[in-house]
Amino acid sequence: MTEIVANLHRIRERIRACEHDARRPAGSVSLLAVSKGQPLASLRQAWELGVREFGESYVQEALDKMALLPDCIWHFVGPLQSNKTRSIAERFAWVHGVARAKIASRLHDQRPAALPPLNVCVQVNVSGEASKSGVALDEAAALCRHVATLPRLQLRGLMAIPAKLSDPQAQRLAFRSLAGEFQRLRESFPGIDTLSMGMSGDFEAAIAEGATMIRLGTAIFGPRSPRP
Ligand SMILES: *Cc1c(COP(=O)(O)O)cnc(C)c1O
Repeated sequence: MTEIVANLHRIRERIRACEHDARRPAGSVSLLAVSKGQPLASLRQAWELGVREFGESYVQEALDKMALLPDCIWHFVGPLQSNKTRSIAERFAWVHGVARAKIASRLHDQRPAALPPLNVCVQVNVSGEASKSGVALDEAAALCRHVATLPRLQLRGLMAIPAKLSDPQAQRLAFRSLAGEFQRLRESFPGIDTLSMGMSGDFEAAIAEGATMIRLGTAIFGPRSPRP
């Protein structure tokens, strides 16, 4: 068994166990394989094991992989720059991390009418870190309202990358505050279904607090190669 095969088996078991411990239905958490900085051969191995949802952060790297790996759902998880929105709007199915109304509008205007709407998660900066993008928790509703007015975008929910905290309780509180806002927003936006939170180092806490999608890179694929 290769490392990736063993990792995926273990992670899928952990997800089931965490769902069970949190009294959540089996299958309520979906796994996004974050494959930025990983060679195509690694994505192929995951594909052989049924993985079809991949997360990428660099547009050109992603376009190269898309050309060679069929039938996948591609999620853009990187920082959004205005000069990259066109390729993202044309080629991806999801964008995690929309944090500005202007970027949302650009993605909408550039989404081809022939494609289904682009799935969008609004990024929240739960830890209030100046260096991280994302809107403050109390600004999330306003940005969601804006996204919901744009017909070529489909508002799916919230996404966050909380600061790494050594105290597991504090880590859970960051996820909990995001989950609380998600539940409140569902009253105004009944269609939203995605709480994208939890990475390789903290996905178990995220599932315990209600994540519906976890984004794992190194836990599946091992270390990434540095950006070329
Ligand atoms: C790279 C990345 C991940 C995956 O990180 P790991 O720690 O390798 O699991 C998840 N989410 C986002 C937004 C990322 O950029």
